[in-house]
Amino acid sequence: MSDDALKGYRGLARATLQKHGVSVWSNAEVHTATAHFKGIVLPRPETADDRHIVLKLDSGYNIGVAAESVTRITEHGRREAHYKIPEKEFPRDPHKPNITLFGTGGTIASRLDYRTGAVIPAFSPGELYGSVPELADICNLQTEKLFGIFSENMAREQYIRLAERIGSEIERGVDGIVIGHGTDTMHHTAAILSFMVQDSPVPIVMVGSQRSSDRPSSDAALNLINAVKAAAEGDIAEVVVCMFGPTSDEYCLLHRGTRVRKMHSSYRSTFRTIGDIPLAMIAPHYIKHLRDDYRRRRTDRNVTINTAFAEKVTILYYYPNMLPDVVDAVVEKGYRGIVIAGTGLGHVNKPLYGALRRAVDKGVHMYMTVQTLWGYVQMYVYETGREIMELGVVPAANMLPEVAYMKLCWALGQTDDRAEVRRIMLTPVVDETTEREPYNGYLVFQGAIPEVQEFLRNIKR
Ligand code: ASP
Repeated sequence: MSDDALKGYRGLARATLQKHGVSVWSNAEVHTATAHFKGIVLPRPETADDRHIVLKLDSGYNIGVAAESVTRITEHGRREAHYKIPEKEFPRDPHKPNITLFGTGGTIASRLDYRTGAVIPAFSPGELYGSVPELADICNLQTEKLFGIFSENMAREQYIRLAERIGSEIERGVDGIVIGHGTDTMHHTAAILSFMVQDSPVPIVMVGSQRSSDRPSSDAALNLINAVKAAAEGDIAEVVVCMFGPTSDEYCLLHRGTRVRKMHSSYRSTFRTIGDIPLAMIAPHYIKHLRDDYRRRRTDRNVTINTAFAEKVTILYYYPNMLPDVVDAVVEKGYRGIVIAGTGLGHVNKPLYGALRRAVDKGVHMYMTVQTLWGYVQMYVYETGREIMELGVVPAANMLPEVAYMKLCWALGQTDDRAEVRRIMLTPVVDETTEREPYNGYLVFQGAIPEVQEFLRNIKR
């Protein structure tokens, strides 16, 4: 049997396939002593183990069967899987709003590459429409692939390009913008865009998916439909994130770009508004606003683009026993801004004080945020807090650490003047700091999540 016919299979798994006369893309029935499975034999990545045979079941899920447990395999023909989505041209309707969708990459623009077993970026506008035709009921969609990267690779260059393209599309007259983005750092990009693109007259909606579209449990289509709806029909002219609300596919939540965070590595309902409540619930047939203090859609084309971004800024996530040389090293390497994610109300240990003073003396700008995410920096409560403030570390209220990081990059891209940086940092652009947190926000109010309500009902019983 040729090498390709057993692509990626080695050792016992390869010998088992050979023994039963089946190969990659066989439509096979695999029997073990206790069960049997029907599916297509998938190729294996070169780096995978040599003990499992991987099948794509009819349900769309992939399973691995231990080669040593296989008693018999029968072949019912062959079915090479083609995961290319048909490209279709998007229909135009002059009565529908015009939306531009920018692709940056991430899972939403990906599919599984069965040659390597890895999820690879594969965004194409036609593919997108081919796989989610409902989008044509909502708007006229123009798509543009800006990048094809996973979101950990988003950086200064991409933020600037994205902000500039958003600005020119708004000036050109579009009714809304959608940005397909990897979920891992979507909240970082949402924050920096909230600063770089101000007073937008139209919605700027970021969307991603936790599970790629070739998986039956994918959230890609629902997130995308809701995001396009928010951009086309919604009234919230801000940078928002549109992702699964509850764990079921009932509705999405719209989160303000400066108050949102990815909170779970694999749940589809991973994005949560922190320190506040989400802006709205959205489903294909409704938009339900949860608050009304948002910036409204306008008909003018005025938008302010400021793409300032200094790179020599870092976050120091404090941990007990942090040694002062970490701070010194950062300063020596020329960093101009440090956001500290401190403990509790905004604390670090005493041994760090000397290094913090040296940093301030060298003109480094330092801001304190809290690791607890919810709640405010409060440096007047304990002696520690007062001392750290006296060293020149500025409390950043309830700004999330990543948001403070992005804002400090943006501020230091504009000026190095202490007072001016402080003014920029502490003047909210779009609720990155708020006067107060809703009294029940931390516990329950994330947009009437059924799981939470069920939980509370059971507690009361
Ligand atoms: N690693 C991916 C990314 O952030 C994950 C995702 O898109 O959900 O690009």
